[in-house]
Amino acid sequence: MEQKPHIAILPSPGMGHLIPLVEFAKLLILHHDFHITCIIPTIGSPSKAMKEVLQALPNSIDHVFLPPVSMEELEGVKPGIQITLTMTRSLPPLRDVLTSLVATTRLVALVVDLFGTDALDVAKELNVSTYIFYPTNAMVVSLVLHLPKLDETVSCEYRDLPEPVKLPGCVPIHGRDLLDPVQDRTTELYKLFLRSAKWMRLVEGIIVNTFMELDGNVIKALEEEEDKSLTLYTIGPIIQSGSINQVEGSDCLRWLDNQPRGSVLFVCFGSGGTLAYDQMQELALGLELSKQKFLWVVRSPNNESGQAAYFSDQTLGNNPLSFLPEGFKERTKGQGLVVPSWAPQAQVLSHGSTGGFLSHCGWNSTLESIMQGIPLIAWPLFAEQRMNAVLLTDDLQVALRPKANEKNLVDGEEIAKVINSLMVGEEGKKIRNRMKDLKIAAEKALSPNGSSTMALADLASHWTNQHNS
Ligand code: UDP
Repeated sequence: MEQKPHIAILPSPGMGHLIPLVEFAKLLILHHDFHITCIIPTIGSPSKAMKEVLQALPNSIDHVFLPPVSMEELEGVKPGIQITLTMTRSLPPLRDVLTSLVATTRLVALVVDLFGTDALDVAKELNVSTYIFYPTNAMVVSLVLHLPKLDETVSCEYRDLPEPVKLPGCVPIHGRDLLDPVQDRTTELYKLFLRSAKWMRLVEGIIVNTFMELDGNVIKALEEEEDKSLTLYTIGPIIQSGSINQVEGSDCLRWLDNQPRGSVLFVCFGSGGTLAYDQMQELALGLELSKQKFLWVVRSPNNESGQAAYFSDQTLGNNPLSFLPEGFKERTKGQGLVVPSWAPQAQVLSHGSTGGFLSHCGWNSTLESIMQGIPLIAWPLFAEQRMNAVLLTDDLQVALRPKANEKNLVDGEEIAKVINSLMVGEEGKKIRNRMKDLKIAAEKALSPNGSSTMALADLASHWTNQHNS
């Protein structure tokens, strides 16, 4: 039997869940002596980007794919529900993998993310310690913890509440801006989140990809309120290291090389965000009207949930650029570059020519932007992105948010106005300065004696002690 303490990690489907957990695993083995197995549930066959990430892992991190749940089985079901169903269907093979790890390694802990809490029963049965990883801000942690109480006291859907919800230490937030899984209280997904609240008080630790300098008020309020029934580890910002799809992205990096410093607005909606066709036309118009430089990762539009491409390479089959307004590419030649489906975001954000980021506010994208000190235009689409947008605009004030019109469309003129305000306006200057301060705070958290480094060391020494005893 191998002597090193072994940790099992279970990310739920989606790059936004895989990337932070894989980076967390890399950090652990870089600074501490562990062996890690990533257990990967999948929907359909694993995407190219996913395989690239897993194949590039160092020797001390293994990965095992669980049998995929077929796409057809999940057709017509919203992504949140797809994730929940996949996690449930993956429980029997997960039990087999964990049982084998218990028999052959010194398995100390199972870490799941916020969609994986039902797997914690399996770990308990096998006497393995349990942890939940939140790849989000602390307001989401607080919301899930307070959900049973809200569920008891609120009779309507949260989006119909007349007053904003006030969570301890958090900026007030309207019910309609809470994360998607709580927007329909009749669903299985909502029930999963209610069960999660119970688990949060039973697990040995909750690991959050944020940092004290960003989310300290919320973390302290939670610790006070829960009085030691919770152990929180704020270990972030953990962001993607290296690049996915490096070769395909080299064109846009070359293009950036030839642009003036800080002049380019990067436009990207995460690994799967899509806009409705009409909204895509307005965005194109807004970019053109703004006259600012842009680099736009274009996806084929959809008319439903805004997340059509989340689990698969399906947008690669058609040409997203064919949905752009007629003549757009020619008219904006010299002003902007459009790339289909994917760009090496981490490198784009760290490029000196990039000066702003119009983002769907996925938490990974948010942290990547903070780490580069790039101010944002917040364009949330789904999941917990509206909560991130509220945090970024109302609380941290490092982002601007364009307003939708009465048809629920953000029109081209509004987009152009907000772009100009961010890239060349007075307000943009203030926002940029605040983002620079946040970048410095993030670097401090990750420095050798920083809050996040110490939290990770605490967690690692807890696991090592557990293993030794
Ligand atoms: N990403 C990328 N290129 C793209 C789109 C996304 O490298 O064209 C990466 C991005 O850098 C981030 C992740 O994919 O690390 C997206 O995660 P996020 O949480 O922001 O959004 P999600 O994909 O979960 O909606």
